[in-house]
Amino acid sequence: MSNLQTLNPQEVSAKDYVQGVYETVVKRNPHESEFHQAVKEILESLVPVIAKHPKYMENGILERMVEPERMITFRVPWVDDQGIVNVNRGFRVQFNSAIGPFKGGLRFHPSVNASIIKFLGFEQTFKNSLTGQPIGGGKGGSDFDPKGKSEGEVMRFTQSFMTELSKYIGPDTDVPAGDIGVGAREIGYMFGQYKRIRGGNEAGVLTGKGLLYGGSLARTEATGYGAVYFVNEMLKSKGLSFDGSTVVVSGSGNVSIYAIQKAVQLGAKVVACSDSNGYVYDKDGINLETVRRLKEVERKRISEYVNEHPDAVYFEGCQNIWTIPCDIALPCATQNEIDETSAKRLVANGVLAIGEGANMPSTLEAIDVFLQADVLFGPAKAANAGGVAVSALEMAQNSMRYSWAFHEVDDKLHEIMKNIYRNSVNAAEEYGHPGNLVVGANIAGFLKVADTMLAHGII
Ligand code: NDP
Repeated sequence: MSNLQTLNPQEVSAKDYVQGVYETVVKRNPHESEFHQAVKEILESLVPVIAKHPKYMENGILERMVEPERMITFRVPWVDDQGIVNVNRGFRVQFNSAIGPFKGGLRFHPSVNASIIKFLGFEQTFKNSLTGQPIGGGKGGSDFDPKGKSEGEVMRFTQSFMTELSKYIGPDTDVPAGDIGVGAREIGYMFGQYKRIRGGNEAGVLTGKGLLYGGSLARTEATGYGAVYFVNEMLKSKGLSFDGSTVVVSGSGNVSIYAIQKAVQLGAKVVACSDSNGYVYDKDGINLETVRRLKEVERKRISEYVNEHPDAVYFEGCQNIWTIPCDIALPCATQNEIDETSAKRLVANGVLAIGEGANMPSTLEAIDVFLQADVLFGPAKAANAGGVAVSALEMAQNSMRYSWAFHEVDDKLHEIMKNIYRNSVNAAEEYGHPGNLVVGANIAGFLKVADTMLAHGII
């Protein structure tokens, strides 16, 4: 296929159709390897759905799904503390709004580029559908590196970023949130700047807001807690539990901290966590209060943990964290952090379950290793959907001008994660891949978006 014309279903098999769409994506989006990887993973699992329902092929659903509705790239100029002008690049991909306003986080990290933003936005569409909430898929961010920047620099950059982004977002059109490098502080500055530009008080334009101005209780905890709730469902299906298990969590940011907290509440011992420089191993169990203070309050490196816990050991570099024997691995840092070699090592060390807290933390080869070894595998778009699910609950509370109590939001989150698990299991079974939650989550997420797109006609 040289362009995105639909194919005659009489002439091509579902497999050829899917392969053709994938090849077009690679051709039209050269050098975007992360985007190709995300598309490949999803498209391959949709073959049985296309084979059973040719209407998706006849209506060009896949061709339309792999093409964002809109991709916005913009200049973000700002002045640093030395008075020097800096220019970063801002992105917002509005991938798919079939089932609701575009929704997805903003990432500030030097690695951000069009490929990363598109992979995240594409995944987000399916994840948001899986939550059962009326939210479409989007994502954004900048190649700005918040590390080592002063408060004033972060604020000036963030205000400049929002000055441009504000033209494209709104509570009913596109609702960004946080992601790597964007937490409560950055959301606060962005909300302030949006309010200043637009006037009024459109609380629902951003989620992950502070509790003083429209944030939801339990949003901070939601992704980490949700990932653990999801893994708990997987474990229960085999008569297992977190209780008494040994867990390794990568990262030490928002997702990691609350995954550690919930895993410990359920009786696990978390023996390691990391940041982008290295990891700490504490055989007695990581002291979460130290990690929280170092990373959330003091914004320091994880290496400093061992100064306060001399029995713990710090290792430079991240990859070897997966050589630590554990029952449950929760990759919660970034994409492609578990490759085939790390996956094989985890399996050799007897890992029982993987729960992807980060987005696409396992390479395609690593996923194959886990599935072939019958390791319980919770893919990101299902396992980490708790964050965006509670973001949708934040939007609902903003619309009602009302706040639910922590336990009300947490109970809803728990129920949502159980539903995502059940729907993924059922879809995997219905389409001939029992137990494969990668396939199940992709199909369950796809069907709602695809059927809505059919209902809306060719747009
Ligand atoms: P944070 O910025 O709070 O934390 C990220 C953590 O990962 C930090 O410890 C960071 O280390 C580490 N990290 C970042 N980049 C790398 C890298 N290249 N190599 C190794 N470690 C790295 O981000 P979040 O916790 O919010 O996000 C983590 C993951 O979870 C991302 O994949 C994100 O897309 C995903 N996610 C987040 C959601 C949320 O609600 N926050 C929702 C769903 C998914 P350092 O301190 O050195 O930067």
